[in-house]
Amino acid sequence: MSVTVVVRPVWRSFHPKFLANAVAHVRSGGFSVLLFDNGKRKLLLPRGRDGKLTDPALWALLALDVRRWGTARSGPAKGLASVRVRPIDEGIVEEWCDRDARHPRSTARVRLDCLACGACCRDNRVVLEPWDLAAFRRAGRPDLLSRDYVRTSKGKVVLKLDARKRCLHLAPKNLCRIYELRPYNCSVFPVGSEACLAARKDTLGIVD
Ligand code: SF4
Ligand code: SF4
Repeated sequence: MSVTVVVRPVWRSFHPKFLANAVAHVRSGGFSVLLFDNGKRKLLLPRGRDGKLTDPALWALLALDVRRWGTARSGPAKGLASVRVRPIDEGIVEEWCDRDARHPRSTARVRLDCLACGACCRDNRVVLEPWDLAAFRRAGRPDLLSRDYVRTSKGKVVLKLDARKRCLHLAPKNLCRIYELRPYNCSVFPVGSEACLAARKDTLGIVD
């Protein structure tokens, strides 16, 4: 067991006339969606003291493939990040709000065990960094760099997948066989992010 307890933001949808509630939700750790009468949506997301998006907010936007955001300059939402939702993303944002309706607060505690999950170890593209290669050699595992396990893609060394698109290091019960030696890019995959939650739902049918 390698359980990580993550306190994650809860998505909630608000009519703009309840802007104060939407702002309070974000200031308490949640993510708000303003749903206008014309069906358009706008996200209100938290920023840290340094002015940058918080990590969970950044990962949520990356899950939508959105890399730009603005800042509310006045009114109750002043200082919060503000992002218009593209029509193509409306369904997924609504899905996140529906998923989180069962969570009564602005944040939810979820227990995630990567060693029993492995949902993000499928259909992925894990690039090995130079220090990964050095670590494999230092650990006496140069075999991990053989063609059995890696291939080159766009000039990078990446982990191979099997015919079912599972990482070759993923054991049948979703345990990473090289967990202590796993590549840097595996170790920094954000546990509890929208990408993590989506992988768990799509692969394991688990809704956190
Ligand atoms: S999907 Fe999330 S919980 Fe599962 S292994 Fe990846 S990071 Fe861990
Ligand atoms: S090396 Fe381990 S953590 Fe990384 S993708 Fe493969 S099974 Fe998952």
